[in-house]
Amino acid sequence: MSEDIIKLRKLKKIYRMGDEKIAAINNISLNLERGTVTCLLGKSGSGKSTLLNLISGLEKPTKGEIIIHGHHIERMNETQLAKFRQKYIGFVFQSYNLLSNLTALENVTLPLIFKRVSVKERNKKAMDMLKAVGLAERAHHKPSQLSGGQQQRVSIARAFVNNPEIVFADEPTGNLDTKTTYQMMDLMMSIAEKNKQTLVIVTHDTEISAYAQTIVHILDGKIEKIEHNENNIKSSREIIVGEE
Ligand code: ADP
Ligand code: MG
Repeated sequence: MSEDIIKLRKLKKIYRMGDEKIAAINNISLNLERGTVTCLLGKSGSGKSTLLNLISGLEKPTKGEIIIHGHHIERMNETQLAKFRQKYIGFVFQSYNLLSNLTALENVTLPLIFKRVSVKERNKKAMDMLKAVGLAERAHHKPSQLSGGQQQRVSIARAFVNNPEIVFADEPTGNLDTKTTYQMMDLMMSIAEKNKQTLVIVTHDTEISAYAQTIVHILDGKIEKIEHNENNIKSSREIIVGEE
């Protein structure tokens, strides 16, 4: 049975720049189904990152409602939001956002620290995840000792290690070459598919949106059109996490 895990109702985000008002998000309503892959597609400045930041509670809307899993995100305070994100949400960023003084393994264990999980179990889960993304032998390297593609693999491992319901990715392949881009997409798609997770990817690139079942075209802070893409690119690898 399908279920809308994310519901947006008449969302607005107005930025004030001196006397000028910029409607970064201008009256967006949208439902996203659990277990699907959605792309927010649009050119630079169209409002994609703002929309993702509103959905994930990183920014407050000027107006409107964001309902995830039945919870009203726009009504939560910072403490509630932090807890909510820990429980339900993973993030992948264009710039990886890894902590530079921690090893790959330590970076991947971070989302587990807030959970009541023993150190041993944390390390095992993180190591299994690093294995799944093909980086087991780099577990004790620092980000600076890894290539861009490898750093993004670590950040994908970190986003998924907690098995979150939803993973948000903002231009996740923006700094990567074409071959690595397809590898990263394939990786995220296969993990999400295996765990029936909901994936929301922001991109300006139609080659990336080809992976999504739903393509939401964003233009000037509005939904221009919604495209249903039944022939989306499927993952081609089998991901095994946590099995001996
Ligand atoms: P995209 O991610 O599609 O490139 P953004 O969501 O970053 O677009 O930006 C949408 C619009 O909102 C742009 O016009 C941008 O300049 C403006 N904007 C974004 N963040 C801010 C901010 N913090 N203050 C003022 N204007 C902003
Ligand atoms: Mg952006």
